[in-house]
Amino acid sequence: MTNRRSVLTGLAALGAAAPLAARPAPAKGAMIVSTWDFGAAANDAAFAAMKAGGSLLDAVEAGAKVPEADPANHSVGYSGYPDRDGHVTLDAVIMDDAGGVGAVAALEDTIHAISVARRVMERTPHTLLVGEGATRFARDQGFTTRNLLTPEAEQAWRDWLKTAHYSPAANSETGTYGGPRHVTPGGALDHDTIGLLARDRAGRMAGACTTSGMAFKMRGRVGDSPQVGAGLYVERGIGGATSTGLGEEVTRVSGTARVVASMRAGLSPQKACEEVVRHIARLRGDAIKGVQVGFLALDPRGDVGAFCLLPGFTYAVTDATGRTSVLTAPSLFAA
Ligand code: ASP
Repeated sequence: MTNRRSVLTGLAALGAAAPLAARPAPAKGAMIVSTWDFGAAANDAAFAAMKAGGSLLDAVEAGAKVPEADPANHSVGYSGYPDRDGHVTLDAVIMDDAGGVGAVAALEDTIHAISVARRVMERTPHTLLVGEGATRFARDQGFTTRNLLTPEAEQAWRDWLKTAHYSPAANSETGTYGGPRHVTPGGALDHDTIGLLARDRAGRMAGACTTSGMAFKMRGRVGDSPQVGAGLYVERGIGGATSTGLGEEVTRVSGTARVVASMRAGLSPQKACEEVVRHIARLRGDAIKGVQVGFLALDPRGDVGAFCLLPGFTYAVTDATGRTSVLTAPSLFAA
């Protein structure tokens, strides 16, 4: 027979109720976190959207659109570095904490991949559209055609072509796999992703993640960013996580789903991020030498966690007053 006690015991066994009850009191008001230092400007836009009465989805979408439109940012949206055939292709996902998900992968000729992802969520029965179908859907939805390849990004690609080992391996920021030599993990020219997580006063949450992926990637390559449970995962009452870095290493362990599962089992966002990074390191050994992977997590109480493989992963935190700080995540390995 099911009574109240056995239901509670069952929830506790699943890790759903007890761990959160043991944590400190919830933060007051809204909170936004995002990956990398350029996340600070994104957080400001997300905060402004919430202040204007927008929903959590409005907030994370508004935030993600900032680096997507920034010509100086070669890792997200407009002016992203192209694939190795010279096409800029975008990956994005948006998610609320009630199972709402929309994503696009290998989207072309459209600046705001995150907004197209939101349309997938709100106007189709699907969760992910890819390639030509995603691009056609964007046109059908009224998103204007825009050439995303700027002269600067094209030049970087042409320079890369001169020296690249044209082998069927993913590029990485370290150059280990034939990627650009002038960029370093976490550096200003690195090809990073923006992942945002937002919570409101009531502890409800949403997230967004958008990227042009790895510079000079194989045509058709899709990283972790648009994949639910890899680049982004949000669960009501538990929290959310987002990732950046070499997407293949995140995808192979369903990285953000793992972070949130650890939080469900009682780990703090910080410990949960550390757990998945250690797991990747154990699993991959020498294969991840010189590779950057970073995770950022937020729970409904406003606890934040961040951890990465190599030094250099920064993240931006905006509190309920709108004050933004850029912090550096601890790393498993030294430089
Ligand atoms: N995670 C992204 C990808 O693999 C790239 C990055 O964050 O640097 O596409």
